[in-house]
Amino acid sequence: MTASNTEDVVEVLNPAGASPVVLVCEHASSFIPPELQDLGLNRNDRLSHAAWDPGALAVAQQMAKRLDAKLVASRISRLVYDCNRPPDAPDAMPARSELVVVPGNAELDETARQSRTMAYYHPFRETLARTLSVTAAQGATPVLVTVHSFTPVYHGSPRAVEIGILHDSDTRLADAMLEAAQASELNVQRNEPYGPEHGVTHTLKQHGLSNGYANVMLEIRNDLIGTEIQQRKMGDTLCDWLLTALKRIEQEGQP
Ligand SMILES: [Zn+2]
Repeated sequence: MTASNTEDVVEVLNPAGASPVVLVCEHASSFIPPELQDLGLNRNDRLSHAAWDPGALAVAQQMAKRLDAKLVASRISRLVYDCNRPPDAPDAMPARSELVVVPGNAELDETARQSRTMAYYHPFRETLARTLSVTAAQGATPVLVTVHSFTPVYHGSPRAVEIGILHDSDTRLADAMLEAAQASELNVQRNEPYGPEHGVTHTLKQHGLSNGYANVMLEIRNDLIGTEIQQRKMGDTLCDWLLTALKRIEQEGQP
């Protein structure tokens, strides 16, 4: 079934970026390869937040520009393969996402799951690992920052949180960013609207914790990043917090 080239599945923006920060956007795209026949979804569902993180890539691009950082972004919908999930997670190829039922994922057998994993997850994982290696070879210890967006209403309930700062067992960068965000008027919360218990820290664990790199996952409520102006402003705000946080970590790390 799905033969794919790495560059069709994942892209590295600003690959020559000099910053130790490596940005990641696993849910950057709503694209479903034609051979998967829209996974049986209608147009509305295909373009909804179930399929991707609206606005997240634009915010990450603004951050990449401000920081001169590399940005690794998936070019495939998370309904095809959610690159923030390991292959054995049922929601790596979800048969249902919030209210959206995904007919094309309803009866995937082991062969089909492996085929999707090979075609979409492995190239993403390898590209991110390589980008971190290239960054480490430039001399500074890499810092992993993943950028996501979430829907303001979930299963009918409005969400008050505006920015989530998420972490797994390494809390260094999240702690410092939460502190940097304290003066902000935005509603900023730790491990909201998701946390490690929801399986969302896969990329952080796989590429950050395993290497000892400081890491954080940023979740932005998508109604706050609907326009280009909002996306740029949000990117700048997050960069301000991130740079303050990194300075603080560096100071604390010194004897
Ligand atoms: Zn996401």
